[in-house]
Amino acid sequence: MRLSGLFAKFTATALVLTISAFAFFAFSQEIPKINDEIRVGISYGASSSDTVEIKSDCGFDIAAPQSDFQHYDIPSLTAKASSAGITLSTRLGGNIASAAKGQEIIISNENSLLTVGNTSYRGKIILFVNSGGKITVVNELPVDEYLKGVLPYEVFTSWPEETLKTMAIVARTYAVKAMISSSHASDGFDICASTHCQTYGGTAKETERTNKAVSDTSGCIITYNNEVATTPYFSSSGYYTESVSSGWGSSAELFPYLASVYNPYEDYRSISNGKWENVISKNELINHVSSFYREKLSGNITDISYERQENGFINSATITDSSGKTIKINTSGSVRSFFGDLVKSANFGIAETYVPSGRSTPALNVISASGTYDVTNIGGYDYIDSEGLKKCLGVESVYVFDGIGSGHGIGLSQYGAKYMADAGFSCEEIISTYFPGTDLTFLE
Ligand SMILES: [Zn+2]
Repeated sequence: MRLSGLFAKFTATALVLTISAFAFFAFSQEIPKINDEIRVGISYGASSSDTVEIKSDCGFDIAAPQSDFQHYDIPSLTAKASSAGITLSTRLGGNIASAAKGQEIIISNENSLLTVGNTSYRGKIILFVNSGGKITVVNELPVDEYLKGVLPYEVFTSWPEETLKTMAIVARTYAVKAMISSSHASDGFDICASTHCQTYGGTAKETERTNKAVSDTSGCIITYNNEVATTPYFSSSGYYTESVSSGWGSSAELFPYLASVYNPYEDYRSISNGKWENVISKNELINHVSSFYREKLSGNITDISYERQENGFINSATITDSSGKTIKINTSGSVRSFFGDLVKSANFGIAETYVPSGRSTPALNVISASGTYDVTNIGGYDYIDSEGLKKCLGVESVYVFDGIGSGHGIGLSQYGAKYMADAGFSCEEIISTYFPGTDLTFLE
C-alpha cells in the first residue's frame, strides 16, 4: 500500500464529507445522537459487591423507582443489597430510598462529581441488584464525557496530537457501536470499563491534551456504507495487521475495511513488546497452554505444526499430544488463545532447540573419564565417545517462541498510529490506512 496514494484519495473524500456530512448522512441503523448517554458498567458480575459507598461534595439528587429526583444535602451514601432488592441510607443509617429487584436507583448531581470507592465520575451513577445478589454500578454520561476517561488509559497522553485524535475517533466509534448492539445488554449496560471493551477510569487520569483530542473530534465516528464501523484496536503489530477473517473467522465481505494492511512506519523494534522471545521446555509447555485447551489434551505436547501467513500471523496450527490427540486451530485469534500468556501476539515462529536445565543458552554437558564438562559453541548436540554415538546428558528440549507485536492485530495499531503521526500524517490519514474504504461522519 502506498501511503502517498491514500493521502490523495482521502483528501478528496474528506473534502466531500466536510460539505455533505450533515446534509446527506442517512443511517439504516438507529444511531445515537451526539449528546445521548452511554451506560458504562463500573462493577458487575464477579467484581460487584453487596455494599457500595458513594460520596459527593454538594449532596445528591436521587430518583427511586416511580419517583422524581429529590435533593439530599449529605456527603455520603451507602447502598446495600438484600434479598428484597437494594436500599440506600445515610452514613448514620437513615433510610433514603429503596428499589426492588429489577428496578434501578439513579443518583446524580449536576454540580459535582460522584465518587464511588476512590474513583470520581462525571454524569449519573445507577445502581441495581444483579442476578448474583450483588450491586451492579453503572455510570451513565454523554459519550464525549465518557471518552475523556478512556483516552488516558488507551494511549500515552504524551503521544502526538494526531494520534490522540485518532484514538478519540476510534474509541468513540467503538462506544457508539456498543450502544447500538452490545454483548453487555444482558448485564444492564452498553460497555464495560475493563480491557474487555475499553478501559475507563472516570476522571482519575484525565489530562488537558486527551480532553482536547475528544473535543477537537467531537461527534466524529468511522462509518462504512452509512453504518457505524466495527473498530477493534490493539497495541502493536510490526508492519502488517491481521485480517478479521483470518483472525476471528468473520466475513471478509462484511468487513472489507478490516483487511490485513501494511504500514512501514511502525518502528516495532524500538518499543517494549514490539519484538519478544519466550523460551519454554517441551515438558512444561502443557502447563502454559490456556486452561480451555489444556482440558482437551491428555498428555504432553509432542508436536506443533503451523502455517504462517505472509503478514506473519499464524492462523492454522495442529497440536498433537503424547496420547495421540490432536487439536486443530483455524484462526490466529485461537492460536493466541491456545498459547495464552506464552505469546504476546499470533505473529511468531517456533524453533526447537536444546538448553541445559538452569541455563539460558544452548550448550552441552559432556561426561568424560575425568568428569563432567560444559561445552559451548559446538555445532551439534550428540557426541561420540569410545563406545560410539551418544545423546548428550542433562540437556533439555525447548521451544523458542520468537514474535512481533502485542495484541490481536486486527484494526488499528496504537503504536502504528503513534509512528504515523510522528512521520507527519493526520488522524484522517491514519484512520484511512487502518480502516481502508471507511468514511468519517459526525453524529447529529
Ligand atoms: Zn466489556
